[in-house]
Amino acid sequence: MYSSGMFINGEWVEAASGKTDEIENPANEEIVGTVPRAAKEDVDRAVEAAREAFEDGRWSDLGPGERGAVLTKMGELVEEKAEELSRLEVLQGGKTMKLAADGDVPMTADQFKYFGGIARVLGGAATGEYLPGYTSSLRREPVGVVAQVTPWNYPIMMAVWKLGPALAAGNTVVIKPAPWTPFTTLEIARIAHEAGMPAGVLNVVTGRGQEVGEPLVSHPDIDMVALTGSVETATRIMQVAAPTVKRLHFELGGKAPFIVYEDADIEAAAQGAVAGSFINTGQDCTAAARIYVQRPIWDEFIARVSDLTATVRLGDPMERTTDMGPLINKDQQDRVLGFIDRAQQQGAKVLIGGGVPEGYDKGYWVEPTLISGADQRSEIVQHEVFGPVPTFLPFETEDEVLAKANDVTYGLAASVWTRDTFKSLRAAKALRFGTIWINDHLPLSPEMPHGGFKQSGFGKDMSMQSLEEYTITKHVMAELSGVPRKDWYYVVFGDE
Ligand code: NAD
Repeated sequence: MYSSGMFINGEWVEAASGKTDEIENPANEEIVGTVPRAAKEDVDRAVEAAREAFEDGRWSDLGPGERGAVLTKMGELVEEKAEELSRLEVLQGGKTMKLAADGDVPMTADQFKYFGGIARVLGGAATGEYLPGYTSSLRREPVGVVAQVTPWNYPIMMAVWKLGPALAAGNTVVIKPAPWTPFTTLEIARIAHEAGMPAGVLNVVTGRGQEVGEPLVSHPDIDMVALTGSVETATRIMQVAAPTVKRLHFELGGKAPFIVYEDADIEAAAQGAVAGSFINTGQDCTAAARIYVQRPIWDEFIARVSDLTATVRLGDPMERTTDMGPLINKDQQDRVLGFIDRAQQQGAKVLIGGGVPEGYDKGYWVEPTLISGADQRSEIVQHEVFGPVPTFLPFETEDEVLAKANDVTYGLAASVWTRDTFKSLRAAKALRFGTIWINDHLPLSPEMPHGGFKQSGFGKDMSMQSLEEYTITKHVMAELSGVPRKDWYYVVFGDE
């Protein structure tokens, strides 16, 4: 059983109310831990600690090298504790051990090291006389106290995407993990403490969106809110953050198109479609969700994807032989099954799967499911399912598929599969998504920005751009002559 307090001002504390939440393993519904169920008074304590830590400069006044060293050390400690962190990710989220231990956790370690490194290279315009007679320089400063709110699908990785750049830039943070997956964010706080981060710089509050998230993102002493989550939560945050004009940074949902032209390597595209659709049980904002296939290869492609889908192994997520785990909770299971039902009512066909797998009554399982025959404007094509349910759609021409790919409110990621370089680059230009893959789907790199167009949000995670998101520039302009009356004053009073 995992049990932990929250981390506020360098101490492990219970909720002021004394309430706790039980955390369930979504693979079998067993209770695997308890954490405090925080509310407004706990948020007030955490924000006060972060504000004090920001104002006295215990973090922002350190040299970037010193801040970077703490983050780099955190990366090393994540590596040291990788086995336990992976186990906790699997236990709380139902994701597979392969994905946690060979993907999310090593990537988290690498990204802490990356942010530790780039803490030292923040740049800006060079100091100079842009207006003759005046020296201008640019200060790049932390924004202040940042509230960060993360989702349950990649708990540890979303924590580093948020904490890495905010802390590297010298901000102080209060982070709230999703209610179902708090363990690894609490462990990151333990690691930060062990790595030498001063008290109050990184605070974690645990609990529910309404009870703890909302008091946090609307708190008058918060300067900026960063969310990875749904469009609905982002619009709510925009409303409650508006009265105090907070800076916002949103990584939201997606509905990625996956375009397969007739000249594609069909085997590569079929393998990519299975990997891209079923990763993390489809609970991935960039998952391949709309698979557009050019007519001449439709039958062959669907047959190959169906064969490969039949090989996806469900089972105990702790086992290395398991390819796909459960969904996160009952609501999500009902939601995904509801999408499948309504798609069928609207005329779509389930090619494979479509229900709860046999023998999986405990936990929140849904079979790998392939859908075809849906209309472009139908719910299953337009809305994020966040489950293992890709929809296959045929197309005839390049113009048609690019228009259909763009015809959603989301704009996070897309892929195009073709051997024709010209066609792939035309797609890269035409598609209105923040990441475009050519002949693969999903890989990301910390050096490159990740973020949405349209309702997938604004503000980038990862890369130097994310560091810039968590800073604010200040122009300092110094007059050089020292004369009492400057040449230009006549435009206000007197003559030239
Ligand atoms: P969600 O929006 O329901 O929850 C996200 C977080 O917001 C949770 O911590 C939740 O407790 C909190 N929250 C909920 N209501 C709140 C409120 N009123 N005020 C403050 N906080 C509140 O999303 P989810 O279901 O946990 O995650 C799935 C969503 O996240 C999907 O839409 C997915 O696409 C998106 N996502 C996006 C990316 C990306 O990089 N763009 C990455 C992962 C997930």
